[in-house]
Amino acid sequence: MKINNIYLDNAATTPVYNEVADVMDETLRNSFYNPSSFYKPSMETELLIQKAREDIARSLRFAPEEIYFTSGATESNNTIVKGIVDKQRKNFNIITSQLEHPSIMEVFKDLESKGVDTRYIPVDRYGNLDLEWLEDNIDENTALVSVMAANNEIGTIMDLEKIRKIIDKKNPKAVFHADYVQAYLKTNDSSIDFRNAKPDAVTITAHKIHGPKGIGVLAVRDKVKFSPLLLGGGQENSVRAGTENVSGIVGLAKAVNILQDNVDENSAKLKSLKNKLLKGLNEIDDIVINTPNNSIPGLINVSINNIKAEVLLHMLETKGIYISAGSACATHKKDSYVHKALGLTKGESEGTIRISMSEFTTEEDIDTLLKELKTCVKTLRKVLGFKKK
Ligand code: PLP
Repeated sequence: MKINNIYLDNAATTPVYNEVADVMDETLRNSFYNPSSFYKPSMETELLIQKAREDIARSLRFAPEEIYFTSGATESNNTIVKGIVDKQRKNFNIITSQLEHPSIMEVFKDLESKGVDTRYIPVDRYGNLDLEWLEDNIDENTALVSVMAANNEIGTIMDLEKIRKIIDKKNPKAVFHADYVQAYLKTNDSSIDFRNAKPDAVTITAHKIHGPKGIGVLAVRDKVKFSPLLLGGGQENSVRAGTENVSGIVGLAKAVNILQDNVDENSAKLKSLKNKLLKGLNEIDDIVINTPNNSIPGLINVSINNIKAEVLLHMLETKGIYISAGSACATHKKDSYVHKALGLTKGESEGTIRISMSEFTTEEDIDTLLKELKTCVKTLRKVLGFKKK
């Protein structure tokens, strides 16, 4: 792994661990056999997949047979929503939040355009879900409730345990899916161990946890009935056809195993860096911190009024600093539906930046970012004629 710059866009993707790259290289070279074939090296390759499945299942608290490898979180999210809807035969509705990643939101909007009753949990200014609304709107016809464990733009941690309780009270038959992507192995706070909520299905992706791109997991409890997205050769227990991405699977498991051993240390480090960053950001005039206290440790989102985030980003890039405007996944879309749901003003929305760290981020990185950010903001505001309130 080589990071030559100050990389602060880890919510978009993370640098791959050296150990992950090594084990993938070894697997690509020596375990190229098709795991479905019947000779010894193929069976050994299948065993590599089985071991990875067991490691990931243990970490997620699912059974190994409930783990399905996919091409990433987008596929996992599409599979569970479409797969559940495909099984419905009578009147039904599906619920998600206003803040979900496009890989959930776009599927909901598409189903809505085809006549499905879709419902969206409203949020407050900091992305906290209105759970009273959920309690009032979930009913005996609700087939699915899909909620992310932590938001990818502002980092808010969702109260999945409370959602589990509401589902159990109002309709225990509704499938509870949680997109773990931004939360998984990112915090050690036991009071927010998402696994305690016992979701019926969860999504993870390797590239947010120092693994490779193009590999993820959809974990689904055995009792849940859903249709596959991809049909074909019957791999993954006929839930996800296609020859397995063996090196990706092995790489993902390696990343999970490394992070599990280091989650305490990483969380402590990130919390301390976040405090330092917050302190420095608060010194900038007319800045709004969008990230609440109940958020994942490595992420801060702020709106800097009277600044165009894209211009700021490019200025910082010339100094070798990489951050993001809003979220990388939303860059192809014009207006951020997340900003709208949060109630950001136009000025706040335009000046929104996301700084996301990893355990490779250093104190010096944060010092340099703060210094350069303050200079850039000052320059831009001078040009634009900003007047301090
Ligand atoms: N869900 C969330 C919350 C995300 O942040 C992302 C990626 O940013 C995804 C899903 C999609 O992940 P992938 O890139 O593996 O398709």
